[in-house]
Amino acid sequence: MNTTIITGASRGLGEAIVKQLLKPNHQIIYLSRSENKELRRLAVEKDAVLQFVACDLSNAPHVEAAIPEIFEKIDLNAAERITLINNAGTVDPMKPVGKAEAAELEAHVQLNLIAPMVLSNAFADKTKNIEAEKVVVNISSGAANNPIYGWNAYCSSKAGLDMFTKAFGLEQKQEQHPVTVLSFSPGIMDTDMQGNIRNTLPEDFAEVARFQEYHESGKLRSAEFVASELLKLLNGPIENGRVYDIKELI
Ligand code: NAP
Repeated sequence: MNTTIITGASRGLGEAIVKQLLKPNHQIIYLSRSENKELRRLAVEKDAVLQFVACDLSNAPHVEAAIPEIFEKIDLNAAERITLINNAGTVDPMKPVGKAEAAELEAHVQLNLIAPMVLSNAFADKTKNIEAEKVVVNISSGAANNPIYGWNAYCSSKAGLDMFTKAFGLEQKQEQHPVTVLSFSPGIMDTDMQGNIRNTLPEDFAEVARFQEYHESGKLRSAEFVASELLKLLNGPIENGRVYDIKELI
């Protein structure tokens, strides 16, 4: 069995990845706040196993409660390959420092950074002794390397996520059955996240006009295309702990 655990698959990039993974002998477990009914219908049609775990990843106790719920669905002894894709994320709050509430910042870091770290820890622990191929993917952003006005939370959480990938990859080199971990920066995609970005006030996000132009001039890639590039990457040799950018693949 080829098993994938993925966060944030109710829409956007996560949904596009799941659609391409729906095949016989594939088990997909996805976590988000809302279920995607179309995916449920497609899974039946494609003879794949699709399981939904309702979870608000910006809430630490919800994440902890989801871990046993995820792993009780997986027969680790039957796994040929097991993958965790930490995809769910938010760009909110888009506000310069001095304007955000503590609760907004805490929810942001919990969703974008702590949830991937907690899920990765559970994954590494539960799969420690199995010989199956084990992969963790952290969905990053170009914002990890570029300070952007109004995106201080997002730039920081994605930079933290990339460093987590690097340190986790380094540690795994010592393991007998290592997990391979990578970050993947998907570039700008035509998803709800971009709609949210375009609707921000210029005083909160100084580059809003540039992002409106990306949309108007058709510069946003489709989530389907990005998902297929990521899945191609995962089917080839991967350097443990590396941050990959879609721009180097296409
Ligand atoms: P999206 O369209 O906004 O979808 C976000 C997904 O995350 C949804 O399935 C959503 O599900 C889930 N999610 C959001 N908050 C959640 C929460 N509190 N708990 C559980 N799940 C939650 O985003 P996207 O554009 O597909 O982005 C996917 C990844 O790519 C993110 O990590 C993002 O940072 C990164 N990225 C995106 C772009 C871009 O241009 N779109 C560029 C660079 C990087 P529910 O609402 O059902 O919970």
